Amino acid sequence: MISGIEIVEVGPRDGLQNEALLVSTADKVELIRRSLAAGTRRIEIASFVNPRKVPQMANAEAVVEMLGRTEGVTRIGLVLNLRGAERALAVGVDQLGAVAVASDTFGVRNQGQDTWQSVAEAKAIIAMAQAAGRVAQVTIAAAFGCPFEGEIDPARVIDMARELAKAGPCEVALADTIGVAVPAQVTALVTALREAIAPLPVRVHFHDTRGTGVANAWAAAEAGAATVDASLGGLGGCPFAPGAAGNVATEDVAYLFARSGIDTGLDLAELIDASHWLAGVMGKALPASLAKAVPFPPQARP
Ligand code: ZN
Repeated sequence: MISGIEIVEVGPRDGLQNEALLVSTADKVELIRRSLAAGTRRIEIASFVNPRKVPQMANAEAVVEMLGRTEGVTRIGLVLNLRGAERALAVGVDQLGAVAVASDTFGVRNQGQDTWQSVAEAKAIIAMAQAAGRVAQVTIAAAFGCPFEGEIDPARVIDMARELAKAGPCEVALADTIGVAVPAQVTALVTALREAIAPLPVRVHFHDTRGTGVANAWAAAEAGAATVDASLGGLGGCPFAPGAAGNVATEDVAYLFARSGIDTGLDLAELIDASHWLAGVMGKALPASLAKAVPFPPQARP
């Protein structure tokens, strides 16, 4: 029995960061506003990383400043080190997102930190947020598999989570960064994580690279995850799989739960409109299914 689920919109950050087309500050703010209009209450609006490494995020501060404060909405800034945390706090994001990486090789390639260095850095980021009177969440990346090392030992992920939980994050997330997870694996790892960090809530982050993303979201919710990340239109291709599908699509995940009688607080028609608008901005069809289908149940016509 799934009592409810929160969907965190990650389109403005994870959705866009691997896209070659550099999106303007105004269009990013419009994407955020459309997502909020559809009912989103927590949204990852930018990452504060080196703009030479991720040119798409060079306007992170400008996006936060143009968007301004948003009543009742939590604006998350993703950061990989203390330098990024300082930038995000200075510009006034509500919540920091830190990242620890379950594979040493991936960690060094992604953020210049092996697993336990990334855990230490994430704990320092959580402490910095708390010192500034704010909170931080933490994500364990490559938790279900690594493009370089292959299988990841679940016991390693749980050890990391226990260590991270000591710093007092608001939640711990499991990220299938390269889209290899399957539901049985999700059920097992979410269940183990809940037992390890209770009462801290569990968040999950899936990519649909191999077509299992929406099934994984359902498995995670059934196993007791409180929150699922999703990206409008399913943007967010994997740099290790050029041409592959991106993050699980917000509208597809919202449909899955809504039609199952589980409230997400999101308006499907507004999401579909926003997804069409985003496809126009990106100049291409997006991976999400829902925006390509006719509405169901059929809409009453006036
Ligand atoms: Zn991702």
